[in-house]
Amino acid sequence: ANANLYALLQAGFAADRDSTAIETPTRDYSWNDIERISARYAKLLAGLGLPAGARVAVQVEKSPEALMLYLATLRAGFVYLPLNTAYREAEVEYFLRDAEPSVVVCSPANLSWVSELAQRCGIPHTYTLDERGAGTLEQASAGQDGKFETVASQPGDLAAILYTSGTTGRSKGAMLTHRNLSSNAQVLNTYWGWRSDDVLLHMLPIFHVHGLFVGAHGALLAGARMIWLPKLDIEQALHYLPRSTVMMGVPTYYVRLLAEQRFTRELCAGMRLFISGSAPLLADTFNSFRERTGHTILERYGMSETVMLTSNPYDENQGPRMAGTVGRPLPGVQARVVNSDDVPLAPGLIGSVQVRGPNVFSGYWRMPEKTREEFTADGWFRTGDVGRWGSILDDEGQVLQAIPDDYLSIVGRSKDLIITGGFNVYPKEIESFIDDIPGVVESAVIGVPHTDFGEAVVAVVVPEPGRTIDPQGVQESLKRQIANFKVPKHVVVVEQLPRNTMGKVQKNVLREAYADLA
Ligand code: ATP
Ligand code: MG
Repeated sequence: ANANLYALLQAGFAADRDSTAIETPTRDYSWNDIERISARYAKLLAGLGLPAGARVAVQVEKSPEALMLYLATLRAGFVYLPLNTAYREAEVEYFLRDAEPSVVVCSPANLSWVSELAQRCGIPHTYTLDERGAGTLEQASAGQDGKFETVASQPGDLAAILYTSGTTGRSKGAMLTHRNLSSNAQVLNTYWGWRSDDVLLHMLPIFHVHGLFVGAHGALLAGARMIWLPKLDIEQALHYLPRSTVMMGVPTYYVRLLAEQRFTRELCAGMRLFISGSAPLLADTFNSFRERTGHTILERYGMSETVMLTSNPYDENQGPRMAGTVGRPLPGVQARVVNSDDVPLAPGLIGSVQVRGPNVFSGYWRMPEKTREEFTADGWFRTGDVGRWGSILDDEGQVLQAIPDDYLSIVGRSKDLIITGGFNVYPKEIESFIDDIPGVVESAVIGVPHTDFGEAVVAVVVPEPGRTIDPQGVQESLKRQIANFKVPKHVVVVEQLPRNTMGKVQKNVLREAYADLA
């Protein structure tokens, strides 16, 4: 069989190829349209005489055609390289120089600087694609007929290079193979109970794992319809929710829905599943959502390098969905929590999360050194995340919150770990205490340079609108609950935390902003 990911997805398309696959506020696309349009683009790409493994870099607004360009790249056997639409010229230049694509597809609005950049970087082919599917890509492929035989791929062939979100530093290109993406798509198809009569409310960007490899693959493989919106727009979400069965979002999507009084239980009556990921979901959001809608958000955990790793149970007979945890390793995925010598730790203890499985990427693009560092000798990938199996324990080892031993919780990133006076401080622990203080919406705890302690703990706190937070009050309340070395030396009150487009808090930005505080 052909290991090309498109072949797998296509086998899942709805039998009635004339039925609607993608619905937008202005136009519907059938399964036939997906096959025809992706075939036309694939033919165009195949006719350019590109070498095997050529990269197709794409920075365009979300549209059904953009998804079809992704599928076309797979079909033609090339490597898809999506870029965040927020990136400006200097950032795009870094990616183009790093990835050396043969083709770049951009928004017409950016054409002047992109084509100049392409010329400087020696990229032979530039096309445009706008949010309505128009542009030179469409024009150049218009003459092609809608038939293309998907190129035969090996499981280990590259399908995509996904640049990481750059939350902890410069983005790295994660090389994902057809096997990586196919195995994960198949596992999620079963694990989350995808059905052909599902309707996915798709409001995520498609330059990232969540929207492209979890959302779009899920619906395509199930032969399920997608309602395709450019982004989270509350009015449109309220309009389409009653006709949807599955929604995926980053935590801020759920926060924003809850802020809307018209978001009710009735509106969600037809929903089967709400999924959250990409960043930690606050327990508060999880609980308010359940109260408001009767639905329990399923939180899962993954990353650009590995696609999805763990998930809270779908089938509630298999166990509860719990706030603050990311659930169990998905079938076929192995995960462990280890100490600094890579020795696995018992439940309750905090350590580094390492994973193994058919979903784990083949390395960082042109960073052999970094790739070697991030894998152990026996093939475990160091995720850079810090986690814990099972229950939350206090400093004496008493259970503070009981959680099953085979559930993983992410407590932060190793780069965000604070070492103050020789003690390890895990920001998440302190953030949870601060978030429980009345009037606090959320918080971020960081370490800043300190001459005596190495690092000093600093808390950045967001109050509810119209409430004032007394920094000293926060410190006093924490002193009653946690060890003194964990209590922030400074508490800064801000209106909001800096976030990137995936809703991740940018702690590096905070560390820079408050570098001189201590
Ligand atoms: P970079 O690697 O460039 O610093 P990034 O790690 O944010 O950026 P992504 O691959 O997009 O780039 O994100 C993966 C990370 O997102 C994970 O390593 C983890 O830290 C975080 N993450 C994903 N899902 C969850 C979740 N449910 N709870 C907590 N963190 C999550
Ligand atoms: Mg990362």
